[in-house]
Order: sequence, then structure tokens, then C-alpha cells
Amino acid sequence: MCAGAHLPADDHSDLVLELRASYARLQRNQTHPGYTAVILKRHACELYELSPAALGAFWADVAWVGAAITDLFQPVKLDTLVMGHRCPHLHCHVFPRYEGDDPFAPIDVTEGAVRLTVTEQGDRVALIRDRMLNGA
Ligand SMILES: [Zn+2]
Repeated sequence: MCAGAHLPADDHSDLVLELRASYARLQRNQTHPGYTAVILKRHACELYELSPAALGAFWADVAWVGAAITDLFQPVKLDTLVMGHRCPHLHCHVFPRYEGDDPFAPIDVTEGAVRLTVTEQGDRVALIRDRMLNGA
């Protein structure tokens, strides 16, 4: 993640925007429309490694992404997940939940296999970026 968070595209995601403390990346699995990861720019494994100011900047980035996704896709709720047991570089999954999602099922950010076409994915990246930069 250190090496690739800033790249325009990788096997799993596409860069939406460079933020103050992080990079926002739209995930290729769009089973949950708008699912985006917010990846800390510098390397850290745990939240407690960040200064209060850095922590505030990271969560402000997460909230900014979440607001844009909510405006655009109208989820019932955002799950805001900091995990990292598979990739110990601080990142947050902004994982929209929709009507019809089972609220009692275990959260699985890999569930489903909805993949947009390259054009559709690019359009969605642009849509989210535009909403973040220009508001509703
Ligand atoms: Zn790292």
C-alpha cells in the first residue's frame, strides 16, 4: 500500500483524489456502489501512531469521502472500517450499506462481484471526485 496508494489504477481500485492525509481509491468491486478505501499517505499500522493533528486530518478525509458517497448513492448507512489484518498499512474502508443488506450478517468487504466496465468505473471516479471538490 505504501508503494501504490497514489497510483492512478491498480488491480483492485482507482484513484479518486489525493486528500490532505490520504488517498481515496474507488474499489473495483462495486457490489456496494461507492465503496471506497481511504489510505493514509505515510506508513503507519495503527491509529495510535498518529499525532492528534494527523489523526484529525485522516478522519476528516474519511468523513469528506463519506459525505460525497452518501450524497451520490444514498446508502442507508456507511460502515467505516479500519481493519488491516491482511494489509497492515492504515486505511479505512468507507463501505456503504443499502436497503436489502442484512444488518446482522458479518461484514465482508469482498462480498459480491459487481465490476463496472472501464468506462463506467472511470465515470464513477469522476463523479465522486467532482462531488468532493464541488459539493452537492
Ligand atoms: Zn505502508
